[in-house]
Amino acid sequence: MKGLRMDGTAIRVMAVDDSPITRKMIKKALEPEGFAIIGEAANGRDAVEMYNKIKPDVITMDVTMPIMDGLKAAQVIKEQNPAQKIIMLSAMSDNDIVAEARGWGIVHFCAKPFKPEEIVEKIMQVISE
Ligand SMILES: [Mg+2]
Repeated sequence: MKGLRMDGTAIRVMAVDDSPITRKMIKKALEPEGFAIIGEAANGRDAVEMYNKIKPDVITMDVTMPIMDGLKAAQVIKEQNPAQKIIMLSAMSDNDIVAEARGWGIVHFCAKPFKPEEIVEKIMQVISE
């Protein structure tokens, strides 16, 4: 159970993606490992609002979303809490996106499509830092 800490508490994750299928896939990958999906959002604006209420340990953040994209949402959240752990999930191997996100202190990326074990391992890596 990689999603559980030594004290038995679950690592709390907020999944942000405009695709319900992708959010479901993230849940299916993480919940069997003991992670708790404590919130889901389908756009950046809702993600920022929800973030302030639930304060997850890790955020998985899609890039391309309506209303507010994941880069903007990640920037806003990082300004509020520079220590917040965010993993950008991107279908694009776009160097500009990576460079822009790095500028805001986001250093973790997971390329879409990803395998369930890849997202699990990425979160383990982020949590251990
Ligand atoms: Mg998207």
